[in-house]
Amino acid sequence: MRLGTVDGRLSILLDGRAIDVERVSDGRFSAVADKAFERWDELVEWGHSRTADDAVGFDPAALGPPVARPTQIFAVGLNYRAHAAESGLAAPESPPVFTKFATCLTGPRSTVVLPSGNVDWEVELVVVIGRRAENVAESAAWSYVAGLTIGQDLSERAVQLVGPAPQFSLGKSFPGFGPLGPGIVTLDEVADPDDLELSCRLDEEVLQKGRTSDMIFGVPELIARLSAVCPLLPGDLIFTGTPPGVGMARKPPRFLTPGTTLVSSIESLGELHNPLVAGPAYDAQVTVG
Ligand code: ZN
Repeated sequence: MRLGTVDGRLSILLDGRAIDVERVSDGRFSAVADKAFERWDELVEWGHSRTADDAVGFDPAALGPPVARPTQIFAVGLNYRAHAAESGLAAPESPPVFTKFATCLTGPRSTVVLPSGNVDWEVELVVVIGRRAENVAESAAWSYVAGLTIGQDLSERAVQLVGPAPQFSLGKSFPGFGPLGPGIVTLDEVADPDDLELSCRLDEEVLQKGRTSDMIFGVPELIARLSAVCPLLPGDLIFTGTPPGVGMARKPPRFLTPGTTLVSSIESLGELHNPLVAGPAYDAQVTVG
């Protein structure tokens, strides 16, 4: 099953059609997507018994992020060996973790405003937590996952890397820096959740291509390591890291250009299509670069 939002309402996404969960369930389930996790198993069971007769057509532009205000967003750096290498860094022995603040989340078709000429791309598998996870063993970790979705960990590299001990979170949290979707895909629709092809392209030019099986810390290990410190809550997101091919590592470095569309794909999960436009330069209160 694929759960997303259409015009801000929780919906089951089919091919070009959507089932409005609140209306079709006669109010049994909320239209607010973030509330779905309170009764996730019940919702999935109900959803599986729906048919295309309950669905209506919709404009893809009406799709929003499938989770709007997660309590916590974790993001993992350097989780693919070839990406660590292109960044000039050794493969980490434990995962570097930062956050993306929730106000950066946006829809799978949303236009993203670029606040500068230093914005880089990072396609990532995003894990959506389905139930509270605390000190979870790797062997049990997948059972805490509601589903998987696609994310872009857009990054303003000057802000990300400023200061004597760079803190990544602000540089990765401008409005629109977290395109997410198109929906949360439950694991029964994914052949092998530990091995999915992911890629991103700018218009027709492929920028990144990899497989999630190349992660240094796979999803179960990330859940075990994170939940050993922070309880993971229903609706929380984990951006699991990006494969090689980012712009910052290119010679010369390259960044996103206004007037193009960033397309992010993961096998079995779908695609994000985010047009890019130039915005007014942000008012840097910090010295960057
Ligand atoms: Zn990232």
